[in-house]
Amino acid sequence: MPAPLNSDKSLSVNHARQLILDALLAVSGSERLFVRQALDRVLAEDIISPVDVPAHDNSAMDGWALRHADLAGNGETRLKNIGTAFAGRAFIEKVGAGETARIMTGAVLPQDVDTVVIQEDVRVDGDTVIIPPGQRIEQNIRRTGEDLRAGSAAIPAGKLLRPAELGIIASLGIAELSVRRRVRVALFSTGDELCSIGTPLFPGAVYDSNRYTLWGMLTRLGCEVIDMGVVQDDPAALEAAFREAADCADAIITSGGVSVGEADFIKQLMAQLGEVAFWKIAMKPGRPMAFGRIGEGNEGAWLFGLPGNPVAVMVTFYQFVRPALLKLMGVDPLPDFPTFSTRCVEPIKKSKGRTEFQRGILFQEGSEWCVRPTGHQGSGILSSMAKADCFIVLEPEREKVGAGETVQVQLMTGLA
Ligand code: AMP
Ligand code: MG
Repeated sequence: MPAPLNSDKSLSVNHARQLILDALLAVSGSERLFVRQALDRVLAEDIISPVDVPAHDNSAMDGWALRHADLAGNGETRLKNIGTAFAGRAFIEKVGAGETARIMTGAVLPQDVDTVVIQEDVRVDGDTVIIPPGQRIEQNIRRTGEDLRAGSAAIPAGKLLRPAELGIIASLGIAELSVRRRVRVALFSTGDELCSIGTPLFPGAVYDSNRYTLWGMLTRLGCEVIDMGVVQDDPAALEAAFREAADCADAIITSGGVSVGEADFIKQLMAQLGEVAFWKIAMKPGRPMAFGRIGEGNEGAWLFGLPGNPVAVMVTFYQFVRPALLKLMGVDPLPDFPTFSTRCVEPIKKSKGRTEFQRGILFQEGSEWCVRPTGHQGSGILSSMAKADCFIVLEPEREKVGAGETVQVQLMTGLA
């Protein structure tokens, strides 16, 4: 359960994220899928390697297979060519004293061979192969099981499966595997001013964009999205929406209705239907946020009550909801959202005491990557997100950024 932090005190971004993560456990339930269907899913059980990889000692290069003891201490060595070992074909001859065999990449190492010399370094004169000095024993050889040992965990449970993991699973000859079930997320927007696309705007109305950014971010994460549309600022309609969402989803995401200026009944209702904390987070954009549980026990769902402003929705999603959903999905260990230092070419105004997530554009100046803000940074200016490829993360202690100062950035690429 979230800490009951309804006080006026602000929480730091890291503290709020930690409180959320501490409250959550991965959803239970898994399904068996074929390898390709498992892309971007979370592995439910360790993949145990049924075989050694590689399955036999083999050559890492095209070259000449030989016994290191046959080589002269210094100077060239002349060896007799006895044939060729091809990949995927048996080579039964033994390489004896003073002999060598041509060997292709991936070919099984002939008996007694302990060294492969790459073909570019060797001269061939009829049946004689001339090896230069300076060869190391074991060079260019891949030994049985050096990648994976039979019986060991090739991929641990909790891993988010990327193309590399699909390749490893296939390399073990495994066709089916067990992954966690998808996390179900219900979402709705609140606000009497909101219009859904496809309906004409009435005076004072705005189109609901948050459901589209949220749908996109959730879909990228691999969640099952239940889009419940716009819900008016009306107690009965909101209560029905919360109950329905809690019935069918693991998590509920709402936007709007948590800011200071909002009608208090939305917050009261959230609090009535479960255990919800209302936080002021020392950040910009995205100061107000609600987190908690709606409904009883296993029947309930986690609630993320995000602010209404379109940029604040995206920033709070990436900073709080994304790591929370990864935890619900069963990703273990949770990945960090790394920050990188880079030079900011323009000054930035900033107030002390809060973390700011400005939208930035990375560009190259000579050989150095630099960043500049996208321009107007209002929390309703969604075009600032569209122009941006990174967040410029300004620490609470910082008061302003002078042109040329170092700032931290978080890349947006790779978030999905
Ligand atoms: P609120 O947090 O409900 O006070 O909303 C803050 C601002 O965000 C207001 O200008 C709202 O009109 C706007 N807003 C709220 N929800 C949405 C939405 N779903 N799509 C676009 N703008 C929204
Ligand atoms: Mg509102």
